[in-house]
Amino acid sequence: MKKAKLHSIETMGLVDGPGIRTVFFLQGCPLRCQYCHNPDSQNFMGAQELSVEEVVEMASRYKEYYQATGGGVTFSGGEPLMQGAFLVEALRALKERGVSTCIDTSGYGQPQYYEEIFKHTDHILLDIKHTREEAHQTLTGRGMEGIKHFIHALQKFNGTITLRHVMVPGLTDQEAIMDEILTMVLPIQKNIDKIEILPYHKAGVEKYTQLNMPYTFESVPEMSHALAESFERTMNEKLSAIKKSHLQQSA
Ligand code: SF4
Repeated sequence: MKKAKLHSIETMGLVDGPGIRTVFFLQGCPLRCQYCHNPDSQNFMGAQELSVEEVVEMASRYKEYYQATGGGVTFSGGEPLMQGAFLVEALRALKERGVSTCIDTSGYGQPQYYEEIFKHTDHILLDIKHTREEAHQTLTGRGMEGIKHFIHALQKFNGTITLRHVMVPGLTDQEAIMDEILTMVLPIQKNIDKIEILPYHKAGVEKYTQLNMPYTFESVPEMSHALAESFERTMNEKLSAIKKSHLQQSA
């Protein structure tokens, strides 16, 4: 049985997928987002281990909460898709026991496992960082090939997808960029249930001091919640219109 590198566990998570969820934050991420709130989850080394049995055991302990709220288990990170072999086994074991499954990802993983992962996943929280190659590289340390490939692969996914974007003032708070996000996800629009715009904030900054890491976003102001909400509303309206027009075309 495969084991995962584990960062931490949240037993009653409310923001990482539908209902009450047990969230397993897996250790290690190939991106280096300048605003990352969990820089201690980026490194692949030195983590504690998590087995599929432990995942199943914890899920059985919280099953009543899942049933009462439409919740289940979420794998987040770090980047959970980087531990593909473990994810396949853990997701399969959970589905065999009737537990709802969710992945919180930025789309940078091991493509050879995607199809198998999709078979056992009900919901995906998909984080899109930026739409322009150069800005994506600067913001995350990686180009866009990973996210583009993942969106392409998601055309074989039958579950629901919630799109997420951390909006940064001066970097992505533009209608043109929001429209580019909608264009990027056109191939998977029918699976998207909603779009969430998360306003950039500085809550995790002290972790950088503790880890002796530079925080390069020091001078970037926090994003206005009201403005982020207004972008979110417009994005969801545009998504509805896109879905409606696709439905009419295929009728
Ligand atoms: S993808 Fe998430 S965990 Fe990875 S660096 Fe970016 S914010 Fe941090």
